[in-house]
Amino acid sequence: MGILDDVVINAKSAAEAVSRKAGQIVDVSKLRISAAEINAEIAKRYEVLGQYVYECSRSSLVADPEAVGQMTEIDDLKAQQAAIAKELGDKQNKVFCPICGKQSPVTAAFCSSCGTKLIPDPEPVPQEAGPDDAKEAAEADGPDAHTSDIPPRQYP
Ligand SMILES: [Zn+2]
Repeated sequence: MGILDDVVINAKSAAEAVSRKAGQIVDVSKLRISAAEINAEIAKRYEVLGQYVYECSRSSLVADPEAVGQMTEIDDLKAQQAAIAKELGDKQNKVFCPICGKQSPVTAAFCSSCGTKLIPDPEPVPQEAGPDDAKEAAEADGPDAHTSDIPPRQYP
């Protein structure tokens, strides 16, 4: 009720504003702005009215095939929206460990359960001896062992 009254009153005052301006010396740019504002207001009111009718029709089970068809479309889109939002939330917040399957925050570099590296390498590296092994060997020798004043770490 309240929403519909509001729609009528606003439409009336908009029409009155236009007729007042039309009676004065015509300022084209101002009229254009008024027209754009009124068009936007009408579009907004259509949206409010549409939503209102949507809610009313749902609750009173109005059996207009066109309305029901449109409502079904909206319900379907809402369901899709919810599913996408859920999936996005899941994907954004959680990552699954490929080894043990435990969920970790997407910001975690390693699995909190088994310690598997979770951030994928930029490019897949072959399983055979490759750049990774060479890198680890270089780190074992330790550039820090030679370039730093801190005594070398003791490796078992
Ligand atoms: Zn794991």
